[in-house]
Amino acid sequence: MSLSLTSFGGAGTVTGSKHLIETSDARILLDCGLFQGLKVLRERNWEPLPIDPRSIDAVVLTHAHLDHSGYLPILAREGFAGPVYCTAATADLTEILLRDSAEIAEKDAAYANRKGFSKHKPALPLFTMRDVERALTLLRPIGFHVDQRLRGNVALRFRRAGHILGAATAELRCNDRVIVFSGDLGRFGDAVMLDPEPIARADYLLVESTYGDRTHARTNPLDALGAIIERTVARGGTIVIPAFTVGRAQVLLHHLWTLKEAGRLLSTPVFLDSPMAIRATDLMCHHLDDHRLPQDVCEAASAATKYVRDVEESKALTANPVPKVIIAGSGMATGGRVLHHIKAFGPDARSTILFAGYQAAGTRGARLLAGETELKMFGAWVPIRAEVANLSELSAHGDVDEIMRWLHGFEAPPERTFIVHGEPAAADALRVRIGRELQWRATVVDDRRSYNLGE
Ligand code: ZN
Repeated sequence: MSLSLTSFGGAGTVTGSKHLIETSDARILLDCGLFQGLKVLRERNWEPLPIDPRSIDAVVLTHAHLDHSGYLPILAREGFAGPVYCTAATADLTEILLRDSAEIAEKDAAYANRKGFSKHKPALPLFTMRDVERALTLLRPIGFHVDQRLRGNVALRFRRAGHILGAATAELRCNDRVIVFSGDLGRFGDAVMLDPEPIARADYLLVESTYGDRTHARTNPLDALGAIIERTVARGGTIVIPAFTVGRAQVLLHHLWTLKEAGRLLSTPVFLDSPMAIRATDLMCHHLDDHRLPQDVCEAASAATKYVRDVEESKALTANPVPKVIIAGSGMATGGRVLHHIKAFGPDARSTILFAGYQAAGTRGARLLAGETELKMFGAWVPIRAEVANLSELSAHGDVDEIMRWLHGFEAPPERTFIVHGEPAAADALRVRIGRELQWRATVVDDRRSYNLGE
């Protein structure tokens, strides 16, 4: 039986995840993500996929983040009409994320047309709300640990990946061959999310490598977070946290609530300035099996937060000089309301911009962490004098030690291990470590190259 793997994204980069598994009678796409970050990557969102979307039999979605789900509206618009399998929480979150990004894309295109600054006439959104609605009708939620037949002799099983609400690893069984895709792996011992589940067997393994060359600090993230906020408030500043509105925002809220319960930050208000994050936070209380928090804690953490829904309230927050914590998207400061807060508080040396997750190459987040002191926003350069901090221990991604811990769960070496979803240095570092520590045959996947499995 022929079996092959080709990546059309999520190879050599952490965005755009799309991995095609082809058997003699089925084409299954693992994840269907958007490219983000560097312009050369983002431009690929506008290029046609190298394969006809109508020829794909099914999509398997590991989790809702846009770099894994955000190409679905385009795939559906271009003719894909098959099922998109995901967990129930992933279906709920994907609906929130895709609708939100269509709204932003349509608004941005309308704004560019009004102001006439786009080189495209007229400027078009990458996808529209109509495309999103079409894609959402294709979602087929299934449970964790349930065997779902996809087509012919191909079956799917999800296990917990621990990365965000609903996140799963995907096991595909094609006849007697087992392909496992890690999706994005979470942390072990996270305060909110469950540990990534071990898997006993894979013939072929695709593993992510976001932090393939890095370990997170082993300090207690609560103390580090508390200390940064306290010193900022002491100098009269505001803490702006660009957060992935689905995933880290909820974990941050829980940490902030825990600090308040312990008697810290009592006079510091916490604002969640993102209608999308607010909806995602409410979902936490609806999917209690997917995380560690009991219902009452889930509700208490939400109640301790001031929700900012409309734009006028958000503007008032930007103008408010009282020391406070503002959590807003996007997580890599590539867009969203957080830009207005960075523009307002970034030039203020008393304030702090605190990152809480991976910052992909080319994003404003990566630039600030690299020490740049000016950011281009809304067509102008904004000086950044605020403290810039990064708490990588708050990341939703496991570090290299945690990836290795998950790999140690396999009872026998896979025939081949393919490394995806990492920038080149990280992917290669993971390859070297796998070879040294496990003596497995590991390959860093080249974008758009087909690998024959079973040879
Ligand atoms: Zn993710």
